[in-house]
Amino acid sequence: MELVDGRYQIQGVDVLDICQKFDTPLYVYDAEKMATKLNMLKDAFKGLNLKIKYAAKALTNVSVLKFLRTQGVGLDVVSIQEAHLGLKTGFKPEEILFTPNCVSLEEIKMAVELGLVINIDNISILEQFGHAYGDSVPCCIRINPHLMAGGNANISVGHIDSKFGVSILQARHLLRVIKTNNIKVTGLHMHTGSDILDAEVFLRGADILFDLAQDLPDLEFVDFGSGFRVAYKEGDVTTDIVDLGKKLTVRFKEFCKDYGRELEIWFEPGKFLVSEAGHFLMKTNVIKTTPATVFVGVDSGFNHLIRPMMYDSHHTIFNVSNPNSETTRVYTVVGYICETDTFGWDRKLNEVREGDIIALKNAGAYGFSMASNYNSRFRPAEVLVHNGKAHLIRKRETMDDILRNQVMLDFEAEKAEA
Ligand SMILES: *Cc1c(COP(=O)(O)O)cnc(C)c1O
Repeated sequence: MELVDGRYQIQGVDVLDICQKFDTPLYVYDAEKMATKLNMLKDAFKGLNLKIKYAAKALTNVSVLKFLRTQGVGLDVVSIQEAHLGLKTGFKPEEILFTPNCVSLEEIKMAVELGLVINIDNISILEQFGHAYGDSVPCCIRINPHLMAGGNANISVGHIDSKFGVSILQARHLLRVIKTNNIKVTGLHMHTGSDILDAEVFLRGADILFDLAQDLPDLEFVDFGSGFRVAYKEGDVTTDIVDLGKKLTVRFKEFCKDYGRELEIWFEPGKFLVSEAGHFLMKTNVIKTTPATVFVGVDSGFNHLIRPMMYDSHHTIFNVSNPNSETTRVYTVVGYICETDTFGWDRKLNEVREGDIIALKNAGAYGFSMASNYNSRFRPAEVLVHNGKAHLIRKRETMDDILRNQVMLDFEAEKAEA
């Protein structure tokens, strides 16, 4: 979003006009921004045989999936339902990596039926998988290299207490199970969480996977997951993709030479591709002054965007309706949910008036995809700006959506019958 002649725009489309047309609360995504981020990644690894598998759970709208497909990415999915969304939007099964955690063997069998690339993250299921398929269905193994990545404890998944992946400390057991069941391992995978800061952490993980790879002769790819850090506020340190690209390219080439074959390198960015492409737009219902602060009460809440309450994440907030204000004031921006529901404490915003549109940045990833109907509120609508035009890609819900699938029992009739 950029300020042009005193009005906020996305690809030349006026943001207040978008709100007027589609109403608030509203998620707005910029397709051009997604493409830019994707190209950054492609450029950084252009020396290698790179495959990008977009982590669908970050933002699963079918139009976004379809747009990213046109940009040449594959998908990383964590449930059979996400796989179906991917297939529906035209991804080929072999372009989809199925990376679930703690799912049943039945769900993995469904993924095999669909023809997805299977990623297994525990020895128990791997044994059963091997027993069922032998070497007739290849698989990838998710390894936990026990790297301590930065960031929030809830999104760091590589540590020793993590439930994800087969611990690298179990490597010998893992290799025994693979050998005994004649399992064909075509991929090695790690994903250590959402906020890895620097190239060094990736490189340490890479070395661990490269070591293990020497015992697995059928590999076709090594998947480094995601963990790219994105900027949430000014001055945030982000993963230096160019630096990572340079260093990992050198190491990966050396590894392929040792291994004797050129393998593909995979990444599964979610946040990196879509976080900054999204803004969440809300309308100010009320300005409420208390002895402690001035609240901006908006027409949304953690039912629509849970990250600040769940991960303590900081999202930059600004006033779209008053860009030329002479006055900035300190506000606490809160939602309308009947529970503590804060989007941001002590934010300096251009003076906010009731009715003003407030924007929250970095809303593309884990925004709508984590939204709920708590308080029986409708989930927001979604808009994708593409080629200088704002397209509705998800309608606002109605009472029918809230009532769908609920069953209202008729107690009076039951009583009359008795
Ligand atoms: C969630 C997830 C990702 C994406 O993580 P981001 O931080 O959004 O980039 C990648 N791979 C797997 C297996 C995941 O579960």
